[in-house]
Amino acid sequence: MRALIIGGGIAGPVLAVALRRVGIDATVFERGSRDDDRRGAWITFQANGMDALRAIDLAGPVESLGYPVDEISFVNGKGRSLGRMPMAARRPDGQTSVMMPRADLYRVLSDQAAQHGVEVEYDREFVGAEYTATGVIARFADGSTAEGDFLVGADGIHSRVRRTIDPDAAPPRYVPVLNIGGYVPGLSVDAPDREFVMQFGTRCFFAWMKTPDGGTVWFANPPMKDEPARGVLSGMSDADWRGWLRELMRGDSGPSARIIEAAPAPLTGWTTYDMPVVRHWHDGRGRMVLIGDAAHATSPAAGQGAAMSLEDAVILAQCLRDLPDAASAFATYEALRRDRVERIVEHGRRSSAQKAAGPIGRVVRDLMLPIIFGRAARDGGESMMWLQGHHIDFDTPVVAATADTRAS
Ligand SMILES: Cc1cc2nc3c(=O)[nH]c(=O)nc-3n(C[C@H](O)[C@H](O)[C@H](O)COP(=O)(O)OP(=O)(O)OC[C@H]3O[C@@H](n4cnc5c(N)ncnc54)[C@H](O)[C@@H]3O)c2cc1C
Repeated sequence: MRALIIGGGIAGPVLAVALRRVGIDATVFERGSRDDDRRGAWITFQANGMDALRAIDLAGPVESLGYPVDEISFVNGKGRSLGRMPMAARRPDGQTSVMMPRADLYRVLSDQAAQHGVEVEYDREFVGAEYTATGVIARFADGSTAEGDFLVGADGIHSRVRRTIDPDAAPPRYVPVLNIGGYVPGLSVDAPDREFVMQFGTRCFFAWMKTPDGGTVWFANPPMKDEPARGVLSGMSDADWRGWLRELMRGDSGPSARIIEAAPAPLTGWTTYDMPVVRHWHDGRGRMVLIGDAAHATSPAAGQGAAMSLEDAVILAQCLRDLPDAASAFATYEALRRDRVERIVEHGRRSSAQKAAGPIGRVVRDLMLPIIFGRAARDGGESMMWLQGHHIDFDTPVVAATADTRAS
């Protein structure tokens, strides 16, 4: 069997390695170039993502990236504590979350794929697909084609494969907060070790974490109710961003002003989206299927997108190993995954909404959050185990399931 994987981001290379373990040859086709610069953004890589990598012996090189985060604490604009939340404190393997540069995660995963003999073809932009008698042909923007038994869309939130499977698929949903952040070397903020401090500021959500090498990782979520027109954000200069962030954080306690001053130029921000329900995860014929953000995307507030896409990759490989044909493997994969990921997307939506609360919403939020976080702190993180405690035993056979017999 040969799989064509569209997208060499987070899910694509890992799926290719997982498929090789179950005897399926896979090639990854990535639109970007090998040396694309993905500097800037950092990512919270949660314990369940590491668990998925561990299931196929890929965790090692990723574990050494970045900085562990054991706890998140929350304060309001005045610096009053709203509570704290342990990260995956109840996992039996002790795995916690790790804050890492996105670029390093992409690099390590594609290096791992190469070391496992996976071919990644760069500058190959997927534009469409056709069925053959027994498989599928992928077409690329440069006029080239590739033929395989099935095709996997790991091509992210604006997935072309999703639209190939279902031309009427709903578009991604705009999340009304922007995202900006990075790493400030040589700026040490006052915060406990391995703790991310998150501030529900008066006008803007702002977060920081001290790193062991004397730097600071940070991000902010400036509210923007309506999706900005194309070109608006890319037209903002470093000075525009810095000025706006300063204004948003004016009067709030904490180190945001120092961070905004010291953050390396140029500052740039992103719009974000989520993808609540994708009707068709596969084509029903065993030829095309979606994983990762192509199938479901959560707002960054959940910090779960990468982890979910890796769970998908490993579980899809298990299904292809254990089910008699690709069509039933895709149906079982969807049945095993859909409820969990849609619940996480909803969790992310609620977390984002709290970041963009208006004056009344802020009062309610400041009253409610201590109750919610108080519960999480009292149970030692047990209430978050559904999210971060997910475990995959790769060797356990998967049993056929359908949408009607979904696992929880
Ligand atoms: C601002 C921001 C902050 C985030 N923070 C976090 C976080 O802290 N923690 C977390 O877990 N998640 C976070 N996420 C979400 C996370 O980045 C995604 O969930 C994750 O990258 C999904 O992996 P993926 O492989 O499905 O898609 P991607 O990583 O997006 O990879 C898709 C790949 O497909 C390629 N591609 C696209 N179209 C084509 C095409 N037509 N042909 C060929 N290749 C194509 C793209 O170039 C890309 O390399 C964040 C997202 C954003 C936007």
